[in-house]
Amino acid sequence: MIILKTREEIAQMRIAGQAVAEILELLRVNISPGITTLALNAIAEEECKKRNAVPVFKNYPHPRGGGKPFPAAICASVNEEVVHGIPGERSLQEGDIISIDFGLILNGYAGDAAITVPVGEVSKEALRLIRYTEKALFKGIHEARIGNRLGQVSHAIQKYAEQHGFSVVREFVGHGIGRNMHEDPPVPNYGRANQGPELKEGMTIAIEPMLNLGALNVFTKADDWTVVTSDGSLSAHFEHSIAITDRGPEILTLR
Ligand code: MG
Repeated sequence: MIILKTREEIAQMRIAGQAVAEILELLRVNISPGITTLALNAIAEEECKKRNAVPVFKNYPHPRGGGKPFPAAICASVNEEVVHGIPGERSLQEGDIISIDFGLILNGYAGDAAITVPVGEVSKEALRLIRYTEKALFKGIHEARIGNRLGQVSHAIQKYAEQHGFSVVREFVGHGIGRNMHEDPPVPNYGRANQGPELKEGMTIAIEPMLNLGALNVFTKADDWTVVTSDGSLSAHFEHSIAITDRGPEILTLR
């Protein structure tokens, strides 16, 4: 069931979204060769405390059930890691790329966003992957309008990504967002334009394409969380939480 939000609720989600954007920006400026992903996580946890926000990824139950809950506030996925990388003692190296996915709940409403950041100087192809993944996200956001089908969002992302030679991860998709981090509907980053629910005023969704330099196949590592590309190629991830309004899509997690 898709929960439509009132303008007052969207105003609350804007506040949560701004907090996510501020914290991600703080993480972005702290990314440099030598810093560990655990140190980045500590920054996010500290910022949540300051704001009385709940870092929702921490202790998030494993989707398969029985698996261990996610242990940190951020997902930190380096290079061939696609999503759900667990922060640890790994220190970032010049030339790496790192995707950080971060969500919180503030005053009862959720915000969720992700960025991929180059560590120092990176290869041309890595930079191109990062740029086009973010552009693909914005192609999708552009279609998030009253009267469109959700499939138009999904299709725009896939078309743009594939046109530029990147593959789109299928196993992980965006989602509705509101009082809960994950609500209906699922928001795939691929598919046909004439599919999915019709978009209505008050729908709030997180759109989050994951693009690979190589093939689209991924698998989950033995730690039960970290998803990597099967061919070891680089992967990038961008996400915004958005509201569908009578003035078009509003990005809630944009600074
Ligand atoms: Mg998300």
